[in-house]
Amino acid sequence: MSAAASLAPQILAKYEPVIGLEVHVQLLTATKIFCGCANRFGAEPNTNICPVCLGLPGALPVLNAKAVEFAALASLALHCTVNERSIFARKNYFYPDLPKGYQISQFDKPLAEHGWIEVPTSSKANKKIGITRLHMEEDAGKSLHEGFADSAARTYLDLNRCGTPLVEIVSDPDIRTPDEAFEYLTRLKEILLYTGVSDCNMEEGSLRCDANVSVRPRGQETLGTKVEVKNVNSFRFIRMALEYEVERQVEVLESGGRISQETRLWNAGEGRTYSMRSKEQAHDYRYFPEPDLPPLIVSPEFLERKRAELPELPETRRARMIAEYELNPKDAHTLTASREFADRFEAAARTARNPRRVANVLLSEVGGRLKALGLELEQSPVSMAGIVLAADLLDEGKISSRQMKQLFDTAFEKGEDFAAVYEREKPEQITDAAALEKLVEEVIAANPKQAEQYRAGKKTLAGFFVGQVMRASKGQANPALLNELVTKKLEEQ
Ligand SMILES: [Zn+2]
Repeated sequence: MSAAASLAPQILAKYEPVIGLEVHVQLLTATKIFCGCANRFGAEPNTNICPVCLGLPGALPVLNAKAVEFAALASLALHCTVNERSIFARKNYFYPDLPKGYQISQFDKPLAEHGWIEVPTSSKANKKIGITRLHMEEDAGKSLHEGFADSAARTYLDLNRCGTPLVEIVSDPDIRTPDEAFEYLTRLKEILLYTGVSDCNMEEGSLRCDANVSVRPRGQETLGTKVEVKNVNSFRFIRMALEYEVERQVEVLESGGRISQETRLWNAGEGRTYSMRSKEQAHDYRYFPEPDLPPLIVSPEFLERKRAELPELPETRRARMIAEYELNPKDAHTLTASREFADRFEAAARTARNPRRVANVLLSEVGGRLKALGLELEQSPVSMAGIVLAADLLDEGKISSRQMKQLFDTAFEKGEDFAAVYEREKPEQITDAAALEKLVEEVIAANPKQAEQYRAGKKTLAGFFVGQVMRASKGQANPALLNELVTKKLEEQ
């Protein structure tokens, strides 16, 4: 098959992609799901292991209550119905990094079902992507194929990851474009981070995603043959892999071919997917109920407690902050990108004279400069307290916005906080009414046309005069006094 991306848009438009996503998320518990071993990434290989997670004969699993709490929190945050009774099952397969020969998972009775995530679309309305199920399971170990002198001949095993608690979140096949898939994953990760159940670190494998994708002629009800895409380690790559795969499938169908049901791997270096194995040869996992674990019973009281623990979730928080701080949706996204940052911002804003001004200063002065430098908000030399100080000074008229900009320039140039720069430079202000009045008169005299328009009723021109006088004063005019004088002088002439 030739590389895709050569198809005409009108051919692509004849087909509708159908995409479903399966996301595995490691839970941030201190210990593993069925034993007391530490659940920690990056430890010396094969040090956090015991008879239970190695599956030695006679060892019995005991379910970690914290893992259930986290899984329940995630379920509630994703609007799932949590089943009062769910069942652990053995998923049998042979793989070197699975010493037990089976993985404890959940099969026909998962912990939670029927949830949804809302994603933005190219049109104005949001779209709900259904969540089929969320179930609990244990992670397998890791096969290390590279990094050793004899890696060409041998594979090494690190079993530390065996028994790491996971939730698998399976979406309905509701996703119709690679962009929607990207948005779904972005929202999902954000929600999980807000609930604090996982660090969702894709480099360390704590969030992993597989995609099922098929295409069908638009208007057709029956689904096309689906292909599973695995081994994709960033949301951006998932979008690219889906774009590639949709084009590849359309090309096969357009040339009269048939899609074979298979698993394909994404190769980021080449920007394409490769066939890994055909699904016809796929394992029959011979699921059966795990005899060593009783049914998992989640009481309504327990669920109510978990519901009460849920933080304000990103979408709700954004809607509230848009109203409270008069933000546009893009700025609201910036401020709520992480719960920790949104918390810090709101705690600081509440101490300010005018919380909206804090949002404004943060986004325009600090955000703009950070963006130009390619830095994250967390790397700003100006602290949240510094931003509040700037907003308050501006609000009280103790500095003009031009002076504030200069102070921020200095802070960023020298890597200093705002308070230090302000204390040192204490920008001068012209608060002498007579001196300022003179400047105002000069500017009005120099702009007779605008003055006339003002007097004819175009009151918004006051801003023009304020700006001109501010410039003439080199940004040193006291803003409150200046506003007052400009109005006074324009009215009296
Ligand atoms: Zn263990």
